[in-house]
Amino acid sequence: MGLSQIYAAMVANNNKLNLERCTYSGFSKTYSSNNFTTDSGAGGTALACGVKTKNNMIGMTPDSITVESILEVAERNNLSTGIVAACAVTHATPASFIAHQHNRNMYEEIALDFLKSDIDVFIGGGRKNFTDRADNLNLIDKLKEKNYAIAQTIDEVKAINSGKLAGLIYNNQNPAMPERGNMLPESTVAALDILDNNKKGFFLMIEGSQIDWASHDNNAENVVKEMLDFDETIGKVLDFAEQDKNTLVIITADHETGGMTIPTGDIAKKEFNAIFTTKGHSGVPVPVFAFGPGAQNFSGFMENTSFKSKIEKLLKLK
Ligand SMILES: [Zn+2]
Repeated sequence: MGLSQIYAAMVANNNKLNLERCTYSGFSKTYSSNNFTTDSGAGGTALACGVKTKNNMIGMTPDSITVESILEVAERNNLSTGIVAACAVTHATPASFIAHQHNRNMYEEIALDFLKSDIDVFIGGGRKNFTDRADNLNLIDKLKEKNYAIAQTIDEVKAINSGKLAGLIYNNQNPAMPERGNMLPESTVAALDILDNNKKGFFLMIEGSQIDWASHDNNAENVVKEMLDFDETIGKVLDFAEQDKNTLVIITADHETGGMTIPTGDIAKKEFNAIFTTKGHSGVPVPVFAFGPGAQNFSGFMENTSFKSKIEKLLKLK
């Protein structure tokens, strides 16, 4: 999610986004330990664990040393924790917050890492990585043993507002917008509803995963659809934070995709012309937006490895 993806959605949406409600903004440098242009494994690991690693690695240093993620630190400090993703929960970005594997494609091992954690809520796709496995384990049964309520539809997700929830609502990846409907904003509201029961607080990672995929496809129309879905989700989160007054919201990306730019357009007609310069990711820094207590710590240029320590300090985590 680079500035062009954001601006395309803003133009298409009558020159307005919920994202604009954020009061501080900056830029995150996304390069990985071995590449000018990061993938989502190294990009997610930098955001979650505070270390630059090699592309494709999840939750560990380039030398394969496991690093605790901010979600795991929050959990160890008795905060509630959650992940909501518009893709499989075992995909690279959500995985970076909970798993430790040499390769992002080790989906079945990543699913097992969810069982090793005490995460309170996770909602997304990827059910088959829990049920249809080479080792024949049924991880849904093991989640039930760990007192998770299992939801397989968005309505089942919305019916649960306390305890632990595993929302595995698609067998494989989540469908794209508009087929996905309100899955992301509704799952986010459901997750917040459970997580805010903990008086000590919570950490929640939410990913609008398919802005990247639409950008890989160089499809500007779908970029706008996925961006507006993510922005609606941002609106729900900012509504919560405004009311709560004690929640920090940080919005950023692990990298830009497509080398997207918008040379021309017409704001009054809500039109823009997009050019993509690559089918892959690009190396440019990505925007960061923040709202709430401590938001001022996320302005100016920053390394993508700086988020974890800043959050730890603000939440006084040990
Ligand atoms: Zn990508």
